[in-house]
Amino acid sequence: MQRYEPVIGLEIHVQLATQSKLFCGDPVQFGAAPNTLVSPISLAYPGTLPRINQQAVESAVQLGLAFGCGIAPISYFARKHYFYPDLPRGYQTSQHTHPICAGGAIQIKEETRNLSFALNRIHLEDDAGKSIHDLYEDATCIDLNRAGTALLEIVTEPVIYNAEHAAAVVAEIRKMVRWLGIGDGNMEAGNLRCDANISLRLAGTKELGTKVEVKNLNSIRFVKKAIEFEIERMEKMLERGEKIQQQTRSFNASNFTTFATREKEEAHDYRYFPDPDLPPIRITQERLNAIQSSMPALPSEITSILQTKYSLSEYDAEQITQDKTEWQFFLATANICANYKSIANWMLGPIRQWRNEKNNEEENMLQPAQLAELIELVESGTVSFTIAAQKIFPIMITGSQSALQIAEEGGWLQEKDTQQLETWVNEVLAAMPEQVAAYKKGKKGLIGVFVGEVKKRSRGKADLKWVTTYLEQQLTSTK
Ligand code: ADP
Ligand code: MG
Repeated sequence: MQRYEPVIGLEIHVQLATQSKLFCGDPVQFGAAPNTLVSPISLAYPGTLPRINQQAVESAVQLGLAFGCGIAPISYFARKHYFYPDLPRGYQTSQHTHPICAGGAIQIKEETRNLSFALNRIHLEDDAGKSIHDLYEDATCIDLNRAGTALLEIVTEPVIYNAEHAAAVVAEIRKMVRWLGIGDGNMEAGNLRCDANISLRLAGTKELGTKVEVKNLNSIRFVKKAIEFEIERMEKMLERGEKIQQQTRSFNASNFTTFATREKEEAHDYRYFPDPDLPPIRITQERLNAIQSSMPALPSEITSILQTKYSLSEYDAEQITQDKTEWQFFLATANICANYKSIANWMLGPIRQWRNEKNNEEENMLQPAQLAELIELVESGTVSFTIAAQKIFPIMITGSQSALQIAEEGGWLQEKDTQQLETWVNEVLAAMPEQVAAYKKGKKGLIGVFVGEVKKRSRGKADLKWVTTYLEQQLTSTK
């Protein structure tokens, strides 16, 4: 039995894909020239006044509804003071005591188990600018384009007990953010980042141990690696009889370790107080209903539709609802092709594999009609699945030819002339009298050998579905 039990709580920051910033009309854009998206409000000139971005509020409510949070009828902003060069106002505007969403949970499926990780809250806040330390040796540059951008902070309760589950929680949040279309969830670009709070306690005890917080993890893999490293590091400390110090730490992605950046003694006194320039956010029941009805059906709902209406397995349904574009592609194809299982097989097999090979860099240019055509060609025995997946699909996805054209040009059409097929089958059976006798005595597995021989004889062109049926007929007939 393990002596120590890890306890993890996550704080996840999501940049919202609003057109403008949280409190002013400055556009939100990535990659613009430094300090070009900055009005006097972003720059915190005296006398400027903030105004709340409606879209940001609605995004927060949507995510809250998706995770089953309670939506506060009234929430408000507080000032959180600290000094940093890329924070021109000298305070961040956040929802300290009255967040817009409270409670709720992240649901995760682990094989056959349904896990639920309680949320503490989701609140709105604005982002700081960026300090760039590595451009000049003797100076730090400040880019305030990001200053004032709308963020959601999602805070879990300390109810996660291993690194895999923590990573799964972050993945689920990213999936939902993308599904709702409220952010791009791009962790590499810093649009979704995770702080992991980790502590250890003696297994079987209830009281929480002293935590460390690893800041700004910008990939799901790093979340897992950082937590694993911290658990091991703290375990060793406790085993040596040392005390854990409350600390803020950073992750070193080049060797998967963490290092201390701030001790507790330096803990901030943020001097919170309600922002007098911002009115409370009021969400009436009417507004809540309107936001709810503007939301897309959630992945869990689509997963059950895929199983009931489209007869997919639970696994396939879960896979297709990892991403809304996948579901939309499935739906568009299913509208013109009734072979739903084949659509799923293609999407989760050759199409996914192709995308992985391209590192997701190339967009999936395949049109639903093209996939429907491929499936039809395989169904009708015109081409084999292997040829369709390995030869025709890669050409089809980069060009404008139809699957049939490609198959014709490549010489990949299956032989459907039954006379020719019968000849091949009979030749094979004549050449293998012992195996035929063995089959007739009950070694039914030999059918694969016969089919394989016919395939060889036809140089891969025989319609094997037809061949199999015909072989079985020949072998069970009395002659
Ligand atoms: P702080 O005020 O230091 O930010 P909070 O109580 O607001 O701490 O919690 C921040 C995050 O840390 C939450 O996700 C919470 O679940 C988690 N957390 C708090 N205490 C612990 C602990 N002892 N071990 C692990 N996680 C913790
Ligand atoms: Mg914190």
